[in-house]
Amino acid sequence: MPTATLISQESDITAGALNVNDAYDLKFRKRSTGDYEVIVFMKLQFFFIGSGAYIWTAFEKTQYMKNWEKEIKKAWGNRILKILSSTKKVYLDFEFKSQQGGWMMDHWEITVEKIKPGGFSTSYVVPSRGNVKLDSEDLTSVSKAAGYMQRGAVHEFGHMLGLLDEYKKSIHVGDTGSVMHSSELIRARHNSTIVKWMNNVLTVNKIR
Ligand SMILES: [Zn+2]
Repeated sequence: MPTATLISQESDITAGALNVNDAYDLKFRKRSTGDYEVIVFMKLQFFFIGSGAYIWTAFEKTQYMKNWEKEIKKAWGNRILKILSSTKKVYLDFEFKSQQGGWMMDHWEITVEKIKPGGFSTSYVVPSRGNVKLDSEDLTSVSKAAGYMQRGAVHEFGHMLGLLDEYKKSIHVGDTGSVMHSSELIRARHNSTIVKWMNNVLTVNKIR
């Protein structure tokens, strides 16, 4: 990762359609290469709970947090948001500050339940409370619709960005491959809140 210079930041983001208050911070930085980056920054507090015979070990908890960050960054990050007229690019990336339990001024509290390997438990996000419920199977791909695989954690992260489900009532109900539907493809519409902020930063700072 090249070093980058901070140009602008915003610490109170109401994210998209869900009206999530303070869902993340945004930073706009110039990389030493001359390209730019928008960073979505989240402070996360993880809690781990067991169920029945399924109890987390300390190692498993640490691994889950590490894998969650790695897989979310891979699925959602390192994408080009815009190519400027100077031909320089604006990338989108994610940074997390995570801790287990304790006390933290967090953006989200993520409770992860350990369940039977291969089992299923419903995962969800409660935007108004800044709460997320995941389970130990949410980093494993499962078939959601014919030919479409999805990891629960990757989909739920979309809700943490303020995005709504698209598989029920939505004009995108036919886009089965979408991350907010039954797979993991990220469409331009999923960046719209961030792009709006980025465009304003570009204008204010006369970056073209
Ligand atoms: Zn959903």
